[in-house]
Amino acid sequence: AAGVNEVRVILTAERKARRIVAVGSGKGGVGKSTLTANLAVALHRMGHKVGLVDADIYGPSQPTILGNQGVRPEAREDKLVPVASAVGVPVLSMGHLVKPGQAIAWRGPMAGNALSQLIDAHWGDAELLLVDLPPGTGDVQLTMLQKFKPAGAVLVSTPQDLALIDAARAGQLFDQAGVPVIGLVENMAGYACPHCGEISDPFGAGGVEEAARRLELPFLGRIPLDLAIRQGSDSGQPPAAGDGAIAEPFRAIAAKLAA
Ligand code: ADP
Repeated sequence: AAGVNEVRVILTAERKARRIVAVGSGKGGVGKSTLTANLAVALHRMGHKVGLVDADIYGPSQPTILGNQGVRPEAREDKLVPVASAVGVPVLSMGHLVKPGQAIAWRGPMAGNALSQLIDAHWGDAELLLVDLPPGTGDVQLTMLQKFKPAGAVLVSTPQDLALIDAARAGQLFDQAGVPVIGLVENMAGYACPHCGEISDPFGAGGVEEAARRLELPFLGRIPLDLAIRQGSDSGQPPAAGDGAIAEPFRAIAAKLAA
């Protein structure tokens, strides 16, 4: 008979076959999609087989960030085939299924079904699926957690208090669903003036690291507020795909996820 250890080995192997890591935030606009895309690109460049699910189905932005908007995914045997991107990461997004700019105003169950189709797709040999969750702690997030049981979740926040409090609430959602929070990321801290180079902190700095300590969660790293990140994200060129210094913080966090 299979011993407990053997069962454990099988479970680990299955999880290794396709690990889902969700990226969440307490509220919108904190850079969750930007972070998810750049982590996926960094992991891909490190040699990992990674796919990206844009589960932010009410405001999908991955097609813009990865530069493949307007591409329609094919369906095979009733399942969607992920869309390729120039940066090497296959992606599925609601943005690929609706016309650009079309409002998505579904109720919970429909949104949950849509999300299931994005995750339960032909992901081929992808070992790691990064899921860009919608902001907050609603139905879609719950469906995702209950149905697909991610191996872990990354929470992103700006250093602002309100965003922090919301991130803590999102952390509770993962806790309740039994999904371990891998750690917290601080985004938009430390703005380097393009003219004089002086670093300023429009939204404060260090707040997320402090919150991580308070919540007894790992702090994964800090992404600076940088115009190049915004410009790259708006033009289908995530900075993690380049070799500039701005790719470095993404790479460092990606390395922690891959470990
Ligand atoms: P969310 O997914 O949390 O709603 P986004 O990733 O869409 O947030 O980011 C919101 C806006 O902020 C986008 O225009 C994005 O390009 C920009 N942005 C995100 N992170 C940074 C950063 N570190 N520096 C500069 N702009 C950023």
